[in-house]
Amino acid sequence: MKRHQLANEIIKTTSLKERFLAYVKEDTQAVGGSETFPSSPKEKILGEKLVAELKGLGIGNAEMDSNGYVYAQMPSNCGVKKKVAFIAHMDVATDCAGEGVKPVIHENYNGSAIKLNGGTVIDPEDSTDLKKCIGDTIITSDGTTLLGADDKAGIAAIMSMVEYLQKHPEIKRPEIRVCFTPDEEIGRGVDFIDLKKVDADFAYTFDGGFPYEVNYENFNAYSAKVTLKGVSIHPGYAKDKMVNAIRYAGKFVDMLPKTMSPERTHNREPFIHPVGITGGSEEVTVSMILRSFVPEDIDREKQIILNIIEVLTAEEPRLQVTTAFNQSYLNMYEIMKDKMFVYDYVKKAIEDLGAEPEIHPIRGGTDGARLSFMGLPCPNIFAGGVNFHSQKEWVALENIGLAAAVAVKIVENVK
Ligand SMILES: [Zn+2]
Repeated sequence: MKRHQLANEIIKTTSLKERFLAYVKEDTQAVGGSETFPSSPKEKILGEKLVAELKGLGIGNAEMDSNGYVYAQMPSNCGVKKKVAFIAHMDVATDCAGEGVKPVIHENYNGSAIKLNGGTVIDPEDSTDLKKCIGDTIITSDGTTLLGADDKAGIAAIMSMVEYLQKHPEIKRPEIRVCFTPDEEIGRGVDFIDLKKVDADFAYTFDGGFPYEVNYENFNAYSAKVTLKGVSIHPGYAKDKMVNAIRYAGKFVDMLPKTMSPERTHNREPFIHPVGITGGSEEVTVSMILRSFVPEDIDREKQIILNIIEVLTAEEPRLQVTTAFNQSYLNMYEIMKDKMFVYDYVKKAIEDLGAEPEIHPIRGGTDGARLSFMGLPCPNIFAGGVNFHSQKEWVALENIGLAAAVAVKIVENVK
């Protein structure tokens, strides 16, 4: 694919490739259910290295706090008061092996299927973005682990932006903030972030996929628990007395609309997804997640659940049902719709690079969504990686360069 020459210049004149390869070799896999923060002490090892690297680039105030967050600040060189933060996460996903990553470099990619160890094949027929990267430097794992471009490509892009700006003091820039976070993959990425230390007016996470993806909308997310309590009695003497909660839990799940499931929906369609069922004949709890882009759909989903319960309890009045709905996270668009200037900088940056942003609503959450509701509007920008959370993860070095180029252009455009 055609890319603006700034991306190539960043690859040629900064240590982008070396630093990305060094980051992915660092074991920073998050640990679900861990009692500590960060969830793995290894995340802090990368954090310390990033602080040392920032200092080496001349950012003397770089520091890591006791929770493993890395913060750094670059002052404006032209009196622009606006403060822009660039954020990426240091941990990698827990979905597949993430320790002992051995990156493999495929120079001048020829367009064929990439065969790796352990029978892992990255086929351009499945991963069609590969076809756009013929001639590029493709980086994969050896096939036995994930790669960790999610989100070390984001860190490498931000670091190379810093290096490039230090080498180009003639580029007028606002106040710049850098923040690297732990434990994003287990949903805790901003649990202990210190927004005073971030000290920014708005921010960007570089945690998206292929160029030129930009996200400023994500799911509204709720969890729902429905507990059905029956009547328990010795099965030998149960005639006309027992109410078996398992039978009603089965009916309940069966009555959930099947077209409104993750496996039957995409784009902006909402879903109700049963994720767990526990209990016995006396009492059963069904756990679900509710997802939608608009709050009205969440209300509709709650009503669907309540209507099913009404049908069941009308059929069997002795069945006792309790429900609990809890908010998990909200669509950042609720905040972003009044702060679209933050997105406009990205749009202009990508247009300056001769391309158009591709706006995708995220069928999930982002740290940026939580940050937006904490008062720091924060859309998400591509970092280059593809096939996240799997042994088939890959990234074109040129696309990390593009992400760094977008960051440089944002800096140039914030006046
Ligand atoms: Zn990520």
